[in-house]
Amino acid sequence: MTKQSKTPAVSMDEIVSLCKRRGFIYQGSEIYGGVAGLYDFGPYGVELLNNIKKAFWRSEVQLRENYVGLDSAMFKDPRVWVASGHVGGFSDPLAECKECHTRIRVDKELGKIGVHADEKMEMQEIIDLFTANAKKIKCPTCKKSTFTEPKKFNLLVKSNLGDFTEQGSEPVYLPGEACQGIYLNYKNVLDTTRLKIPFGIAQIGKAFRNEISPRNFLFRTREFEQADTQYFVPPNQNEKPYQEIKKSRFDWYVEYGINPENLRWNQHTHLVFYAKDAWDIEYNFPSYGFDEIEGVHDRSDYDLSQHMKHSGADLTYTDPKTNEKYIPWIIETSAGLGRMFLAFLSDAYTVETLENGDTRTVLKLHKNLAPIKYAIFPLLKNKPELVKKARDLFRDLSKYHACEFDDNGNIGKRYRRQDEIGTPTCICIDFQTLEDNTVTLRDRDTTQQTRVKIQDLLK
Ligand code: ATP
Repeated sequence: MTKQSKTPAVSMDEIVSLCKRRGFIYQGSEIYGGVAGLYDFGPYGVELLNNIKKAFWRSEVQLRENYVGLDSAMFKDPRVWVASGHVGGFSDPLAECKECHTRIRVDKELGKIGVHADEKMEMQEIIDLFTANAKKIKCPTCKKSTFTEPKKFNLLVKSNLGDFTEQGSEPVYLPGEACQGIYLNYKNVLDTTRLKIPFGIAQIGKAFRNEISPRNFLFRTREFEQADTQYFVPPNQNEKPYQEIKKSRFDWYVEYGINPENLRWNQHTHLVFYAKDAWDIEYNFPSYGFDEIEGVHDRSDYDLSQHMKHSGADLTYTDPKTNEKYIPWIIETSAGLGRMFLAFLSDAYTVETLENGDTRTVLKLHKNLAPIKYAIFPLLKNKPELVKKARDLFRDLSKYHACEFDDNGNIGKRYRRQDEIGTPTCICIDFQTLEDNTVTLRDRDTTQQTRVKIQDLLK
């Protein structure tokens, strides 16, 4: 039995160290020295990531009558990014340190000294705020306070692609956000399914941003995935669904194990002109506190109107009952998978003191999110009959669940290893198993052990 519960504050360094040690996350291109803002998901990381995606898809598509999924191509006609406003306006305000040339995100640095600024403000407003406060801001590298005037820096990542590049006219872009594919296909979905407005489309897709100062591990990266939903409603019928969607997205994090005290709402004070309302769900990230994990935005008809204007396609909807013709309004939710991953992992991270005074680190992940569901151990690796029995059980159980076979080291060490990756149940095959076909199940959270028949386990 354990005596203590959750550590009051896990640090980001502890999370990074666990992720590396246990094969959740590796630095991108590590053997070449690593590239800032890029990460690779290791064996347990990819399982946790996939389980988060499954949990999202289950709640947003599977359990809803009027939502469907989509997976659109990452490359798009470059005009998409002009229509969306990304070519013209998707930029961060940056200033450069005159001493050491480190570039800083002006809005974020102002935020750190308690001055509110965000990328949606007019540039002149940001320059004025920065000029008034520049002496209080220190360069993170050389600690001096001498900066150039802030400039806007476009975040879109350019690429090249067959026809477009050969024409030499326009660059193509990697997606700056995943949701554009939903707007482009909204009419296709209507025409090929039996859905009518109101309805929603969900998509999980990659996004790329030229973040100038990637930081805080998975929080701000240059390549990441977004899990989005777009809900299409008649004009001016946005308020009620917006409130419902807001609530359901907040509750989703709690349902999958996040302590509600570590979540909060933050309303945008500077709305872009077309937005009716915008809120962020924030999580209390280790070592630096509350910041955005997901945006829930009431966006009016802006996105579809823009694509209508730039493509010439008719994206209006005709109500089959009233014959009323309109451009639907959209309620959007958009969450970064990396930030979700960090939040679920940090919230589950627990250090406990055992009765013998030892400590154990345990990831108390929701069972559906745990990378491995069952770890199967033969008590001793040099007893072929125990090993065979454990392998047989692995073969049977792994048809239904992610399992791991482990015969390495003493049993206590094997339990510790599984605790650190959040495996809810360990199964031990011992000499009694050979006599009566029962095994020991050991519970991750209570460390309690129970004896069950293998047939009952497989049922
Ligand atoms: P921020 O203000 O933190 O830059 P944002 O408001 O630009 O974020 P959105 O464009 O609304 O973010 O993107 C939706 C979600 O995508 C965010 O809530 C976040 O979880 C995720 N996201 C955005 N930028 C990044 C990034 N550079 N790295 C990881 N996740 C990101």
